Amino acid sequence: MKLTNYHTHCYMDDGSRPIEEYVTWAIEHNFDALGFSCHTPVPYEDDWHLAQHDLQKYFDEIKRLKKEYVHDVELYTGLELDYADDRKELLGSEFQDRVDYVIASVHMFRDADGEGYLSFDGPETELQMLLDRNFENDGRRMAEAYYHCLCEMMDRHTFDILGHIDLIKKRNRHNRFFDQTQGWYRDAALQALEAAARNHVRLEVNTGGIARGAIDEPYPAVWMLKHCKELGIRLVLSADAHRPQDLMCAFDTTLSHIRDAGYRELDVLYGGKWIPTDI
Ligand SMILES: [Zn+2]
Ligand SMILES: [Zn+2]
Repeated sequence: MKLTNYHTHCYMDDGSRPIEEYVTWAIEHNFDALGFSCHTPVPYEDDWHLAQHDLQKYFDEIKRLKKEYVHDVELYTGLELDYADDRKELLGSEFQDRVDYVIASVHMFRDADGEGYLSFDGPETELQMLLDRNFENDGRRMAEAYYHCLCEMMDRHTFDILGHIDLIKKRNRHNRFFDQTQGWYRDAALQALEAAARNHVRLEVNTGGIARGAIDEPYPAVWMLKHCKELGIRLVLSADAHRPQDLMCAFDTTLSHIRDAGYRELDVLYGGKWIPTDI
């Protein structure tokens, strides 16, 4: 099996360390390929997207490292794009031809009461504000709106990997905002899987919520993996690492969940192409 990760954040967005530290960590741990996926620059300022004026520096730094470590590990330049629900656009898609791959994610909704967007992936206070302003504090409405956005994004746009398909559960430990065991929730999540299948979308199995101590299972939930297999959805394994030491966080247990769902291979970007690797 090829050891890889294509979902990596560094000091330039909301990750933590210089890009080279991730590369050397990956080499020490025998990675075959490593990709970087900064949150794409957006047309406004915030503290978690790559700044417009850093984009070229980001590209140049990875290009330099690709040369320097050419005999040690394959390196790839990616971006994590953001779906803007109000414009139905994938922010950052204008950079798609300058990178090796893109991840498409829904992290936020247009603020119903003000300027800009509110994220449900960031600080708790921002999530509370989003719930209050956009959804009258109704967690079910927020979760349903989230899955609706995901389906819309998959039906309208093309990309290489869909980011963390059930991210909306991140702050929902003990079902505090909505009940993930209810039929309506499962139906909404299954609709997203069906949209992935009909659009031939590759999903990531993402362990980033475990690394951050937010949840105990990957995105997607273990029960969803069996449905992914039935629907013929291709998978890639992702750490969504914000620190070098998280680059393969919980990969062993997550791989056994993937195997239990019936998968015998995963997709990897290797030799410049997306190919299957046995697991
Ligand atoms: Zn993300
Ligand atoms: Zn990410």
